Amino acid sequence: MSALSQLHEEIEVCQRCQLSKYRTRAVPGEGAENAEIMFIGEAPGWHEDQQGRPFVGPAGQFLNQLIASIGLSREQVYITNVIKSRPQENRDPLPDEINACRIWLERQIELIQPRMIVTLGRYSMAMFFPGKGISKIHGTAQKRDNIIYYAMYHPAAALHQQSLRQTIEADMLKIPSFLAQAENITRAKQEPQQLTMFED
Ligand code: URA
Repeated sequence: MSALSQLHEEIEVCQRCQLSKYRTRAVPGEGAENAEIMFIGEAPGWHEDQQGRPFVGPAGQFLNQLIASIGLSREQVYITNVIKSRPQENRDPLPDEINACRIWLERQIELIQPRMIVTLGRYSMAMFFPGKGISKIHGTAQKRDNIIYYAMYHPAAALHQQSLRQTIEADMLKIPSFLAQAENITRAKQEPQQLTMFED
C-alpha cells in the first residue's frame, strides 16, 4: 500500500475533532499520487459525506468541467479539502476544527509534492494567503518554496451567483500558463518572485 493510501486510511478513522461524531464518512481526498496540481476546497458537503469522496455533488460537477477545460481529468490531479469531515448542516468550519485537521493537509502536500496548489474558496485561501481577500487575489499566483499558490473562487459560488461563472472559468484557463511560466523561471534560474502577481 502506498504512503498516500495509508494516510487516507488514517484520515478515514480520524477522531481529532467533534465532527467525527456526526459524519457518515470522512473524505480524505483523491487523485494522482504524483499530481502536479492539487485543488483544495473547504469541507465535504452532503454528497461527499455519503460517498467519502471530495467534490462529487453539484459543485464537483462544475469542478470536473473546469478541470476538463485545461485538458485534464480528475484522475490526473489531486482533490481534497481543508476539513475532512462534513460540518453539520453545512455550517462554516470552526477554527479549532481547521487546526485539528491541518496535519492531514500538510502530510498530503508533503507526499504529493504538487507543483501548484489551487485554493478553492476563502477557507482554503486563508490557509495559504492569510489576510488576503478573494475578490482581490483570485486569478493571481505566487511562488513560494517551489510551489505555485493560486487562489480561485469556490466552484459553488458560480452555482449561487451566475455572474461569477465566467470569472471562475477564466481563472482556471490561466493555470497552464502559470505552470509553464514557473518552468521557464526555474530553467532560467531567475528569481521566483517574478511570478508574484500581487504585492504584500
Ligand atoms: N465543497 C467543498 O468545498 N468540498 C467538497 O468536497 C464539496 C463541496
